[in-house]
Amino acid sequence: MKQRERGAPFRAELTACHECDELQRIPALEAGQAARCRICQALLLRNPGGGLDRPLALFLSALILLLLANIFPFMTLEIQGQQEITTILGTSQVLYHAGMGALAVVVFLTSILAPALIISCALYVLLAIRFNVSLPAVRMALSWISHLKPWVMLDVYMLGVLVAFVKLDKMASLHIGLSLFAFIGLIILSTAAMAAFEPQLLWRRLAGKRFT
Ligand SMILES: [Zn+2]
Repeated sequence: MKQRERGAPFRAELTACHECDELQRIPALEAGQAARCRICQALLLRNPGGGLDRPLALFLSALILLLLANIFPFMTLEIQGQQEITTILGTSQVLYHAGMGALAVVVFLTSILAPALIISCALYVLLAIRFNVSLPAVRMALSWISHLKPWVMLDVYMLGVLVAFVKLDKMASLHIGLSLFAFIGLIILSTAAMAAFEPQLLWRRLAGKRFT
C-alpha cells in the first residue's frame, strides 16, 4: 500500500478504451508514465507520481486560496472621489442588478461554486482513501469531479478581469486587492492539483473497498 502511494507500478487490468471500445491490458506504469490505446492512441491512464499526498497538499492549498480570494477585495475603483470595492461575489451581484441574470449565474457557477465543489469533492475522496476512512458517498464525490471539471473557468474570469482592468484604467483610479493575487495563485495551484490527480487510479483504489 505504501509503495503504491509513492508512485510505484500498479497491477495491470483489462480496460476498455473510452474512444474505440478496444479491450486491452494496461501495463504497469511507473510514476510519470501514461498508457495509450493501441488502436486510436487515446489516453487511457496516467500515473502522475507523488501518490495521494501531492494532490492532497495542492487541493488543500487551493482551498485556502479560494477562501482568501472570496474574503478580500478584488480591486478598488475610484471615480471622482467615490470608492467602489469589488469582490468576486460582488461581480455576480452587480451583473444581476444590471439585468444580466444569466451572466451573473454563469460567473458565480464558473468562478466560485464549481471550483469550491471540485476542490471539496477531491479533498473528501483523497482523505477517505489516504487514511482509509469509510466516509459516505465517496464514489459519488469522485464521479462529480469529472462532471464539474468543464464548469471551472477561473482563467476565463481572469481574462475578463484583465480586459476590464485595461478599459477602466483610462477612466478611473484602480487599486489591486489581495484577492487578485490569491486568485492568480488559485489558478496555478488548481491546475497543478488536477495534473497530480488521476481519477482512474482512485477508482481502482476504491474497487476493493466497502465505500459507497
Ligand atoms: Zn482506442
